[in-house]
Amino acid sequence: MTAQILDGRAMGAEIRSELREEIRRYVRERGQAPGLVIVLVGGDAASSVYSKAILRIADDIGVRARLEQLPTVTSSDELRATLLYLNADPTVHGIIVQMPLPAHLSQKMVADTIAASKDIDGISPRSAGNLFLGLPSFLPSTAAAVMEILERTRTPLAGKRIVIVGRSNVVGKPLAMMLLQKNATVTVCHSRTTNLADFTRQADVLIAAVGRANMLTASMIRPGAVVIDVGINALPEGGIVGDVDFASVREVAGALTPTPGGVGPLTNVMLLKQCVQAAWREQDSVLTSVM
Ligand code: NAP
Repeated sequence: MTAQILDGRAMGAEIRSELREEIRRYVRERGQAPGLVIVLVGGDAASSVYSKAILRIADDIGVRARLEQLPTVTSSDELRATLLYLNADPTVHGIIVQMPLPAHLSQKMVADTIAASKDIDGISPRSAGNLFLGLPSFLPSTAAAVMEILERTRTPLAGKRIVIVGRSNVVGKPLAMMLLQKNATVTVCHSRTTNLADFTRQADVLIAAVGRANMLTASMIRPGAVVIDVGINALPEGGIVGDVDFASVREVAGALTPTPGGVGPLTNVMLLKQCVQAAWREQDSVLTSVM
C-alpha cells in the first residue's frame, strides 16, 4: 500500500480562498475588515520570520494586520498596558503575542491579560478551560490545523482509536480534548510511555507531535492508518523532516501528511480563520462555537 499524501498547502490555499470570500462579505456588512495585531517583544529571529508569514497571509486574504514591535527592555507593566490598550480597541479583533518572550517577561501575565474574545491562538487559561469543559473556545492554532485536516479529509473519528504522541499544552493536550468531543477513543503518549509501539500500532489515526526526527517508523504503524505528522525537525546536514519516517511509513499508512507541506502551512491560516471568527463575534457577549 502507498499512502494518500494529505497536502497541507492545497488545503491552506482552499481555506484562504474561503476566507477571502468571507472577509469580502464581512466588509460589506460591517464596513471595515477584521483587525489583527501581532505583538513582538525584542528581536527573536524566528518570531520575526513567523510574524512576517502571518502578515503575508493576512494581506493576501484581506485582514488588516500590523506588527506592534516593542523593544527587548519593555517592562511587564508596559507590555500589560499595550495589551489592555489593544483589548479596548474595537478595530482589533485578534491579538497574538509572539513567544518566546524576553526572560524578564511572563507568558502567564500575557495569557491572563489578553481578552478572551481576542485570544485567537487559544493561549489563555480561560480558552483552555472552555475547551476542557467542551464549551465554545478559541483553539491553539496547530491543534486546530490538525483537526481541519482530519475534517477536510472526512477522516472518521467517532469510535476510532486515536493515539497522540506528545502532550504539550499547544498540541497534544488540546487535540485530546477536541478528539474526545468527536467521540474518538483517545490515548496520549509521552516521554515516559513504555512500549510506545504497542500503543501506536493500535491507532486508526496517529498524531505525532514530539520534535524527534523520523522517530515513528513503519513497524510502529497500523496498516491503513491515517498519520498526521506535526513535528518539524531541522537536520544537522540541512533540510527539515517530521517526527514520522516518511519514506517507510508511506508504504504502510493509508494517508499521511508530509513535512514540510502538511500541518505547517495550515497553522497560520487557522490563526487567521479564528481572527475572522472573532471579528464576526465582536458584538456577541458570549462566544459561539468555533469548533
Ligand atoms: P514540546 O512542548 O517539546 O512537547 C513534546 C512532547 O513530546 C512532550 O509531551 C514529550 O513528552 C513528548 N516526547 C518527547 N520525547 C518523546 C519520546 N521519546 N517518546 C514519546 N514522547 C516523547 O513540543 P510541541 O511544542 O508540542 O511541538 C512538537 C513538535 O511539533 C515539534 O517538532 C515542533 O517543532 C512541532 N510544531 C509544529 C507546528 C506546526 O505548525 N506544524 C507548530 C508547533 C509545533 P513529556 O511531556 O514527557 O516531556
